[in-house]
Amino acid sequence: MNTIEITRPVARQDHFCEVCGPGIKQGDQYSRTVSVDGGDFSVFKCCLEPCLDVVNKCFRGGFYDRFVGGVTGDDAREWAHEHVGVGGLIDDPDALKLLQRLEQHNAQHTP
Ligand SMILES: [Zn+2]
Repeated sequence: MNTIEITRPVARQDHFCEVCGPGIKQGDQYSRTVSVDGGDFSVFKCCLEPCLDVVNKCFRGGFYDRFVGGVTGDDAREWAHEHVGVGGLIDDPDALKLLQRLEQHNAQHTP
């Protein structure tokens, strides 16, 4: 998979964030990465904070599937879970923010 374009547009409508779900609201700036694999294009959209920070930390730490060739939302969420509440270690602030956001979204969707 090759990344061919990374932009930070302002949302003209709400977008689904690959990492936290319904996180990108109209008017928010977000991260948009276009990749191509063979002839297939894919677009990865996520919030700048904390989602992109978590994605970047995964990437720098090599925490992703090399076959896929990039960090997925699943990778980012798994990484966050592994960097919060680990005995003796300080919680990663971006991981903590992401987990709090996921909890909020879950709470909103529970009737
Ligand atoms: Zn997000």
